[in-house]
Amino acid sequence: MATSATAKKTTRPATRSARPAPELIFGDLWEYDPSPETADPKLKARYELFIDGKFVPPAGGKYFDSINPGNEQKLAELALGGAADVDAACAAATRAFDTTWGRMPGRERAKYIYRLARLLQDRAREFAVAETMDNGKPIRETRDFDVPMAAAHFFYHAGWADKLEYLAPGRRVAPIGVVGQVIPWNFPLLMLSWKIAPALAAGNCVVIKPASNTPITAVKLAEIVQDAGLPPGVVNVVTGPGSTGGYLMAHPATAKIAFTGSTEVGKVIMRSVAGRGKRMTMELGGKAANIVFDDAPLDQAVEGIVNGIFFNQGQVCCAGSRLLVHEPVAEQVVAKLKTRLRVLRVGNPLDKNTDVGAIVSRDQLESIQGYLDSGVQEGAEMWQPPFRRPAKGFYLPPTIFTGVTQSHRIAREEIFGPVLSILTFRTIEEAVEKANNTAYGLSAGVWTDKGSRILKLSTELKAGVVWANTFNKFDPTSPFGGYKESGFGREGGRQGLLDYCRLT
Ligand code: NAP
Ligand code: MG
Repeated sequence: MATSATAKKTTRPATRSARPAPELIFGDLWEYDPSPETADPKLKARYELFIDGKFVPPAGGKYFDSINPGNEQKLAELALGGAADVDAACAAATRAFDTTWGRMPGRERAKYIYRLARLLQDRAREFAVAETMDNGKPIRETRDFDVPMAAAHFFYHAGWADKLEYLAPGRRVAPIGVVGQVIPWNFPLLMLSWKIAPALAAGNCVVIKPASNTPITAVKLAEIVQDAGLPPGVVNVVTGPGSTGGYLMAHPATAKIAFTGSTEVGKVIMRSVAGRGKRMTMELGGKAANIVFDDAPLDQAVEGIVNGIFFNQGQVCCAGSRLLVHEPVAEQVVAKLKTRLRVLRVGNPLDKNTDVGAIVSRDQLESIQGYLDSGVQEGAEMWQPPFRRPAKGFYLPPTIFTGVTQSHRIAREEIFGPVLSILTFRTIEEAVEKANNTAYGLSAGVWTDKGSRILKLSTELKAGVVWANTFNKFDPTSPFGGYKESGFGREGGRQGLLDYCRLT
């Protein structure tokens, strides 16, 4: 330990201490002292599909590009998987389930899953840089959150693999079979680990399709699956468009399907598999209320509001996108928030000082921009700190709207961007009513000094997670999932693992 700490110290650039202290003014951030992450993401020019333990070209022979939203440059090309590839992946997964993985004692499966976790840790910096380049999220987040949390999910579930009988005492706990999984672009590696780790721990085999905006860390994880020596077919990664995901979800070989993405696509999938007897979990959209009372420690609450909505550029299903603030402190909170937003650093995702990186794609940027226009048209007041848009890349400054009513689109629909809609309330009953006045129910936040308020709200808010005096806190032991149109089933913890098991 001592050696590596010393080594770290001496390898720091000598110029670092001589740098001028950065001035915290928005528009100038691109002019001085970028502190780019330099670890090599080890990207290949082309990535194939991972089927039956091998990297194979797609049956159709076509490829698509993944770009870096931070600078609009092409990063790599990826196999465009289609129906024939999904068929091959499902056949490989079925074979693996019938002949190796599905029959393996839990303590043996655990060894492989621990190995995945350790190999991911070994390559953590490389994965963090690759994820930041593919998705646009700040390196600080991929380095300190996405990648370590993904490894933590593998460690946690490896620990369960030989203890499944304790999930449901008195019942027989068995795997389900082949699981089809489709994940979104906002936490590509983390969502992949939320899906694969519990499935493998329970003894299932998987075919997973990552989002086409952010497929790179999924195929890099396939390299780790290969290096860890998992039996062929236990994990299969098929990159490709949404239609390939649709084909996978409806495939007769998948006994269970797990989807994370928009409510809209979730409904399409549910309709397409209705009546086929598949086990199903859906992690869908959200429009969380973050509720601040007058007795809350306001500076902490402001940090929580910022983290709640600007983490990952607000492209978070459980983002605190509706701020409900107690009337007596509303002006004060908005003033403090504006001061804080003026010093948030928006820009190059690879800069270690960046707080807000790039939006994932041009389409997503345009969609968010459409919501900004609608907010203004419907009469809300928009505020952004001073911002100079870089010449390339998909950037948007943190944006807040005041004067928002519940009927405004920006208060009802999931924007999935760095946009906060601020509403006020007078009584706790009004706060509950407004918070629950949504088709979604994934998460909520409460900021107050009073335990009684926290207890009341945590029972009355229709949300899968209610954070008190914090926001966006995750842990593999803690189940996550929605109410209402935010989905059903849980991921994480004992409850999440049960969703990958057959109980008899
Ligand atoms: P999306 O458009 O629903 O896409 C999600 C995934 O589904 C992608 O891999 C996509 O492929 C694929 N897909 C598209 N059409 C499909 C179809 N007809 N059948 C099967 N798969 C299909 O969502 P997104 O824009 O990537 O992600 C943002 C959404 O995810 C937000 O609504 C957010 O709230 C939600 N989300 C929820 C959670 C949660 O845990 N509740 C977590 C993260 C995100 P392509 O990429 O190739 O189109
Ligand atoms: Mg990309």
